[in-house]
Amino acid sequence: MSTCNICEARHMAPAYVSPENVSITSLTEIRSGRTEVFACAHCGHLQTTPLPDLDAYYDEQYRILIDSEDEDQLYKIVDGEKIFRVRHQVDTLLGKIDFPHGASVLDFGCAKGASARQLASCRPDLKLHLFDVSRMYLPFWQKFSEPDRWGTHDVPAHWHGKFDTVFSMYVAEHVAAPVAFARQIASLLKPGGTLYWLIPDVAANPADFIVADHVNHFSEHSLAVLMEKAGLKLRLIDSRSHEAGLIAIADTRTTQSNFRPSSSLARWQSDVRGIASLWSGLGSRIRQFETQRPANEPSAIYGSGFYGTYIASCLSSLNNVRCFVDRNPFRQGKSLLGKPIIDPRELDDSIRTVYVGLNPLTARQSIGDVDVWRDRDLKLCILNDNESAIHSAA
Ligand SMILES: [Zn+2]
Repeated sequence: MSTCNICEARHMAPAYVSPENVSITSLTEIRSGRTEVFACAHCGHLQTTPLPDLDAYYDEQYRILIDSEDEDQLYKIVDGEKIFRVRHQVDTLLGKIDFPHGASVLDFGCAKGASARQLASCRPDLKLHLFDVSRMYLPFWQKFSEPDRWGTHDVPAHWHGKFDTVFSMYVAEHVAAPVAFARQIASLLKPGGTLYWLIPDVAANPADFIVADHVNHFSEHSLAVLMEKAGLKLRLIDSRSHEAGLIAIADTRTTQSNFRPSSSLARWQSDVRGIASLWSGLGSRIRQFETQRPANEPSAIYGSGFYGTYIASCLSSLNNVRCFVDRNPFRQGKSLLGKPIIDPRELDDSIRTVYVGLNPLTARQSIGDVDVWRDRDLKLCILNDNESAIHSAA
């Protein structure tokens, strides 16, 4: 695990090893074993030691959002209106790619196909195809697509050179061999075709750094090397259209790449050291806050996603945690680690301590937006990205 997945430089240095012997996946499963992240000095790529049996994991265990057709992640709340992830992803894709009428388009690594389905409803003229490395999503695909437009495990031979656009949303970070993955996508494009990736931006959401099943954490530099190796020309990297996401758009070699990274490799490496430092100290600071609270005082964890699960994994005991709180209606009514997930309005009056499991870069603002808690006397444990790392606010 000391060779870079992208530029093949050897002897990558460890950038981070989790202090505790636990790792958390993107689906908020807590597993035993430490998370190790390595950094490439040449291209800035960060990579995490893959989970054992990665292929079987995605084939059989990685069950993302499959409780219902409409189940989705909450992307953002703007003026009280909930915006869900798939809708935002497709709106952004349509804003970035000028699909010709009747274009052949492939959603590569589509899971239940929610993005393709949404895209089809906006652009019924497109010839949309679906691919994933599992058959567990077929019941969803059958509701809006035909078998001659989908593939599982092996890409159909007649798909080579077929597509105007191949898009992959939150896929490349999971694959163990990203260069081979990009080459495969390149082989499916027509001359003049376009690749569109949406991947996590570790600089905007530090959780990506320690997610156990995210093998790759791309830098702008490593993305540029990757596309070159895949025989593609990187057109742009957009870090603004998605909060905590990077869009990479690349074309087949009929055009010239004039891409330049927005910052130096040294600056990136400095940012990475900051993220590693954040995670190295956070667990002990959460426990410090915990010990300062009165014994047996009931508490709640705000956020039932990665950060909330991380906090739960750090606490000395979950005995005092009564519930998780989440504004996503698809999460409410479920449970996590044996605790119910509730709407903020349902928080019992007896609970006065809340651990805020949100992105440290935006946690303070997000928790301030919870109107129904404004007049409550809550002691908040906020993960913070500054030196104190945890800020408690009354
Ligand atoms: Zn490298």
